[in-house]
Amino acid sequence: MSRPRLASVSVDLDEIPCYYEIHGLPVPPAAAGLVYDRALERLDDLARALGAPLTLFAIGRDLERPEAAAALRAMRERGHEIGNHSLDHRYDLTRLGRAEITRQIEAGAEAAFVATGERPAGFRAPGYTITDEVFGVLEELGVAYDASVFPCPAYWGAKTAAIGLIRARGRQSRSIVDDPRVLAAPTRPYRVGRPYYRRGHGVLELPIQVTRGPRLPFIGTSVTLAGPTRARWLARACVGEPFVNLELHGVDVLDTSDGLEALRPHQPDVRVPTPRKLAAISAACEALKRAGYTFVTMREAAAAFA
Ligand SMILES: [Zn+2]
Repeated sequence: MSRPRLASVSVDLDEIPCYYEIHGLPVPPAAAGLVYDRALERLDDLARALGAPLTLFAIGRDLERPEAAAALRAMRERGHEIGNHSLDHRYDLTRLGRAEITRQIEAGAEAAFVATGERPAGFRAPGYTITDEVFGVLEELGVAYDASVFPCPAYWGAKTAAIGLIRARGRQSRSIVDDPRVLAAPTRPYRVGRPYYRRGHGVLELPIQVTRGPRLPFIGTSVTLAGPTRARWLARACVGEPFVNLELHGVDVLDTSDGLEALRPHQPDVRVPTPRKLAAISAACEALKRAGYTFVTMREAAAAFA
């Protein structure tokens, strides 16, 4: 019997201030809660239309706002999984020292539990930046899976160049450059070794998706910028993988008309109108369905690959 082909759609609920921080820009107060107040509903509609449950990685500090906690709880009640995206989304999490790394991960999970009643099974690191030390903490805490490794040369190059450009303009980006050795990490679910980008017997890793061959990024930003036709092509370039893990962000269903005008010069994806973004994400997921993939939560995928 051949193994079933599984796919997951996960969404990092980075609130809008995160994007201003990346670019070193001041945050407009009116835009601060858009992901929970507006994007979640659009994501739920999308998930229903696709028949695909979502896995939502929440930042603990965002859940101090009662409206955000209520919106996330409602998503859980509709069948979506709740994951842990740390307490404060510190882009320099890996440099904070073991005690603070532990606190960031534990308190992030606790905030999600208090808000929704669900204890997150999975963790995703801020900015996909992870180290052996963070994996050691995840193992200690008994996390069922991690979903942070992104072995994508195109993304690594773009991120490194963007940080350099922001610095050259005299602003300070909160992002940090990742160890390039992550680019050689496995692209399919694996147990991490030491170093974590090699196979071993540690925490189960469900890497961020790249295509077969050139390892192009198959994530919300590339799919929404590609548009429906090329998004379908990107999805087909992942077919054959035992698991396809499409990672989105809340901002992937928002655009400049939602009050993000100030990001327009810095982030090309906010210029794409939301209906076109939704069409691109749907086209990619439908292509996977036609290829025989079943959409499950990441918790379910982790159980299948454990
Ligand atoms: Zn994030």
